[in-house]
Amino acid sequence: MFQPFVQLVRQYDLFFDIDFSGLSFTGKATVDLDATGDISLDAVGLQVKSVKHGNRNLPYKQTSNAVEIKTGKFSGPLDIEFSGKVSENFTGFYKASYGDGYILTTHLEAVQARKLFPCLDHPAFKAVFKLVVRTGPDLKVISNMPVESEEVRANKKVVSFKQTPKMSTYLFYLGVGKFVEEHNRHGQTHLYAAHARPKGSIKTEFSFEAAQKVLDYYESYFGIPYQLPKLHQVAVPEFAYGAMENWGAITYREILMHVDQNTSVRAKKAVAGVIAHEIAHMWFGDLVTMKWWDDIWLNESFATFMGHHAVDQGYPQWKVWQDFVRTQTSGAMGRDGLRSTHPIEARVKNPEEIEELFDEISYGKGASILRMIEAYIGPDKFQKGVAKYLEKFRYSNASGQDLWSHLQEASGTDVNRIMEAWISKPGFPIITATLSDKKLNLEQERFLMAGGIEKQSWPVPVTMMVDGKPQSLLLDKEEAQVNIGPSPKSLKLNVDQTGFYIVHYQGRELQDLVWKSRLSPLDKWGLISDAKALLLSGRMPIREYLSLLERFRKDEEYLPMFEISDQLELLHVLAPEKMRDTSRRFHTDQLKTLQAKTDENSIMLKGIVAGRLTLIDDAYAKEQGSKIKDLASVDPDMKRPVVMGYARSSNDYNGLIDRFKKSATDEERLRYLEGLASFNKPDLVAKALEFSLTGQVKKQDVRNIVAYSTSNADARSVSWEWVKTNIEKLETMYQGTAQLSSIMRAYISIAGVGRVDEAESLFNQYPVPAADATLERLRIYDRLARSIMATS
Ligand SMILES: [Zn+2]
Repeated sequence: MFQPFVQLVRQYDLFFDIDFSGLSFTGKATVDLDATGDISLDAVGLQVKSVKHGNRNLPYKQTSNAVEIKTGKFSGPLDIEFSGKVSENFTGFYKASYGDGYILTTHLEAVQARKLFPCLDHPAFKAVFKLVVRTGPDLKVISNMPVESEEVRANKKVVSFKQTPKMSTYLFYLGVGKFVEEHNRHGQTHLYAAHARPKGSIKTEFSFEAAQKVLDYYESYFGIPYQLPKLHQVAVPEFAYGAMENWGAITYREILMHVDQNTSVRAKKAVAGVIAHEIAHMWFGDLVTMKWWDDIWLNESFATFMGHHAVDQGYPQWKVWQDFVRTQTSGAMGRDGLRSTHPIEARVKNPEEIEELFDEISYGKGASILRMIEAYIGPDKFQKGVAKYLEKFRYSNASGQDLWSHLQEASGTDVNRIMEAWISKPGFPIITATLSDKKLNLEQERFLMAGGIEKQSWPVPVTMMVDGKPQSLLLDKEEAQVNIGPSPKSLKLNVDQTGFYIVHYQGRELQDLVWKSRLSPLDKWGLISDAKALLLSGRMPIREYLSLLERFRKDEEYLPMFEISDQLELLHVLAPEKMRDTSRRFHTDQLKTLQAKTDENSIMLKGIVAGRLTLIDDAYAKEQGSKIKDLASVDPDMKRPVVMGYARSSNDYNGLIDRFKKSATDEERLRYLEGLASFNKPDLVAKALEFSLTGQVKKQDVRNIVAYSTSNADARSVSWEWVKTNIEKLETMYQGTAQLSSIMRAYISIAGVGRVDEAESLFNQYPVPAADATLERLRIYDRLARSIMATS
């Protein structure tokens, strides 16, 4: 990947002749560039037929990943003729099937553009792209820019696109198929929705509305208009990732483009969240791009962070910052508390390493650190710094350092030093707080979920409320003493949980001050979430943890209720016999509270709590299951618990399979898939897992059924056995995407509880990149499960 001689690439003139039914293509790339010596272009899986400069043939050699061309010092266009095949997995130019049809679509991030055309496949080599495609007359072609001309000649359609602005190769897009297209606008920008299903079957109004709202927000926040004349949102029937920010032609899973009256609040919030994330990339990633993949986190964490701002503005009733901490911050701490974590800023060389970086650290930790810095310097200064940074680096590349410098300049604070420490060190701090001599002592060290102590310190922007008044300090040593007045009545650290650290309050007197504080929903979440971390690391006994949860049993707020439900679900799967009653009691109380509420968050949470209750309460499962006869009239968020309850009370495998096959939307299909994983008879879940590999379940959704069966305590052994048996199939299916790693870390660490030795030998045989993290987390869960089982 290292390019010693190429200085710059000005332009790619690309021509593709695509044999849609033959799943192959021939192409010609004219690459206009300057080099100080022989040129090596990235090319994988392509057959190069000739390399020319003008009329002159140039000698070249093709290796497994490059075309090495004898040019010597060179300036000007190189013409390369090549051919290639459409990919059968999720990367490069691939076939995405639906029913009995398919589309051809690209997914070129991180280093897959080289599978479509020879190029300098490096984000810092930005160039202009001019594209012409020849293909069947009945097919539509979509790319980054609007069509310039289109004609049918000799029963072939030739589509020519307008030239792009300077952009990175990984953002190039090409889609070919029988697309249905809808049109809308945002100011001067043409908006399109495209999908491959019958007209009207994917309802795109909401995705247009969300796009318009977030475009409004970003244009005003960044102070730079959206830069291309059009923006496509393309629904892709098979897609390993949720979505991809190709400039001007964003691709999404189909479920993210369809919203109608039968869509649950849960799905609708996900749709808005992903659209906001992808559109943020149009500025952050596409207009300004990282210099190298080491900084991929900057793209992803910024899009994640800004996406929440945009949705919060467009849909304030959802209070999405509450979802942010529960998913992004919490997910990141769950990963970063492991010894086998990695720093935000990682050194990467080979493509597999790059893929593995698309994880909870790059998205969730990075975004949480940005939220911490925004709170530290204030939202206005933060916005000012970001806008200046984008203005300065538009159409070029920048590093994290460039952003910190702009934030530092805008705020007059020491952002550089703080950020450097947070992105270069793995892990995060736990702050132990104690009271002595009327002073508050704060002591930091690295938090390790496996237990043990490691002296480490970060510059931590610590915030606190003392008697309702805010106080703050930058804790940049291991210890500090804080004056909190002679007799404080209340105190809470990490106000609204903007800081990426855990607090352990020690001593009765101090804990009482915390309980006397006015706690926001975010503060309550912090206490509950920190308690889980303390429990897992062995710093808090299970009894103390449960009595802390008990304080919130009657709590009526969305965020603390949701967090408790999440935690009890996990504990129940880990130690079902001991945790079932507690979990049932909490979930039953929560359901009662939620019945009376009508806001969208409560409607969504009610569906989730009810779903979890069907897995632990047979009578409730039966009651819900009986409503399946009239499922159409059930509230969209409550359909899921009805299907799960039906599965558990009927064991009607064939009936659910039948419903799955007749489903019209992905949301319905996933609901039945979850039903099929929820049986209380493990052999039926095993049958459902087998069904997922028959080609009738989208490949992208196979990981979902693994997730569903892992949440079903009755099916834990079955999930474990199935993944173990099918690990090679999963590896092939998700090749090049790091999806297998995420399945391992998230589900095998749970399903493998009680089988640590077996897991170790599995990973000896298949040393997947996620093995260390999976085993570490598995050992932690296993230890907790055993300690819970040992309680009387
Ligand atoms: Zn992203």
